[in-house]
Amino acid sequence: MNRKKGSKSCDVLVLGAGPGGYTAAIRAGQAGLKVVIVEGEKAGGTCLNVGCIPSKALIHAAAQFQKVKGCEQDNVFGISLGGGSVEIDLSKTIGWKDGIVERLNKGVEGLLKKAGVEQIIGWGRMLDGKTCEVSGKDGPVLIHAEHVILATGSVASALPSLPFGGKVISSTEALALTHVPDKLVVVGGGYIGLELGTAFAKFGSEVHVVEFADHILPHYDREIGKVVLQSLKSLGVTVTIGAAAKQLSEDGSGLVVGLKDGSEVTLPADKILVTVGRKPRLEGWGADNLYLTMRDGFIAINDKCQTSMTDIYAIGDVTGEPMLAHRAIAQGELVADILAGKPRRFDPAAIPAICFTDPEVVSAGLSPDEAEAAGYEIVIGQFPFAANGKAMASVAESGFVRVVARKDNHLVLGIQAVGKGVAELAASFGLALEMGARLEDIAGTIHAHPTQGEGLLEAAFGALGHPLHM
Ligand code: FAD
Repeated sequence: MNRKKGSKSCDVLVLGAGPGGYTAAIRAGQAGLKVVIVEGEKAGGTCLNVGCIPSKALIHAAAQFQKVKGCEQDNVFGISLGGGSVEIDLSKTIGWKDGIVERLNKGVEGLLKKAGVEQIIGWGRMLDGKTCEVSGKDGPVLIHAEHVILATGSVASALPSLPFGGKVISSTEALALTHVPDKLVVVGGGYIGLELGTAFAKFGSEVHVVEFADHILPHYDREIGKVVLQSLKSLGVTVTIGAAAKQLSEDGSGLVVGLKDGSEVTLPADKILVTVGRKPRLEGWGADNLYLTMRDGFIAINDKCQTSMTDIYAIGDVTGEPMLAHRAIAQGELVADILAGKPRRFDPAAIPAICFTDPEVVSAGLSPDEAEAAGYEIVIGQFPFAANGKAMASVAESGFVRVVARKDNHLVLGIQAVGKGVAELAASFGLALEMGARLEDIAGTIHAHPTQGEGLLEAAFGALGHPLHM
């Protein structure tokens, strides 16, 4: 059926309503610009629907289950179930998680509406640098825009020999499982694989992680990876490093894995979760009708998030690493400010990264190796949570906080932590780096007691050569 195309014009067209796109749209709308946002699925993008939020909901539920399950046995707290046992109904957990996602979907839609942004549900395709055709449920719409913000995000990468389908799943399907798989093989020991692998181990799956590199969390330093590895082992997770996932076994019952010594093993699996990375979403939206310069497979942008085409901006995962929601959000806000006439540049001192494993990991700025590779002479202060009162009182003694600073002027270059609950320290780490803190600034800041945050104070004392509780 040929339908007459509706036509609209606007100041700003945003393609994709993930954290990057919806933030840009809200801010531009608040600035009084006429904004249209186009989304093919649901407002909130990967992060809100199948990423950050649902994964953290599942991780939380798994931790709750593990805690209560622990009470079936004798424990230091003297808490007992009086002989009862604990079961998990994963379909109910998933229902609760879906409820949170739905509330947030509605919240984002409400914020867009409040900012006066017009929302169009449908898949957009750029016809040229100023025109987008959207095929929505009410027929095609043509949108003419003065400025375009590309925020199409990313998709899970598959292994060619192990395509998604059947028992081979991506994080999206893992977040919607209604039964706990007996045997789960996770391919890829990065943060997404380890977060979900840990959650399913706590739910009761027998989990085996296969990692190609020679240590887990290959984007973090080894000392941090070691603490997480230790904890995975105590959860009963098996980790094989230097191993290549090949294909499903002939009978389909497991995954064939090539080991370092050249031999092969078949790991039995009810589900195989492939988390080998994500790639920018460059297909299906008319990128071939534009003349965008690419860099390392992503859309190349400058420090104003401008692409190689006039009036076309790009933000978020489609523009490169780190593919994190808070980077997308910061870029979205920045572009909207620029379009509203403000002079802005994307030049953060640090973009903190967190792994919501157990224990959690935070890294902001440079690790010791990165600082040295960048040519700095450094001092390091490291404080173990084993010496922190709050950590002891919360059974959170594994891990540490580490501060890396320039030797000459004590400017803080990086802060890392691994330990239970350290994700919430990310804000203070980021703030210290963004404000250009010196070790003396951290050491001179009164940190509330008893908190795990005192670990940062102690690490700074250590780097200055006068540790207190060590
Ligand atoms: P996306 O969120 O991918 O949004 C892009 C949107 O564009 C999508 O909604 C898509 O439907 C839409 N779109 C694409 N093409 C079109 C088109 N042609 N027409 C209309 N709409 C279109 N990051 C963190 O910072 N912290 C975390 O804890 C974290 N956990 C994660 C856990 C998992 C399991 C996963 C998969 C990711 C996680 N991430 C996390 C990464 C985070 O989700 C992304 O960095 C973030 O969502 C990127 O935002 P974005 O706006 O660039 O793109």
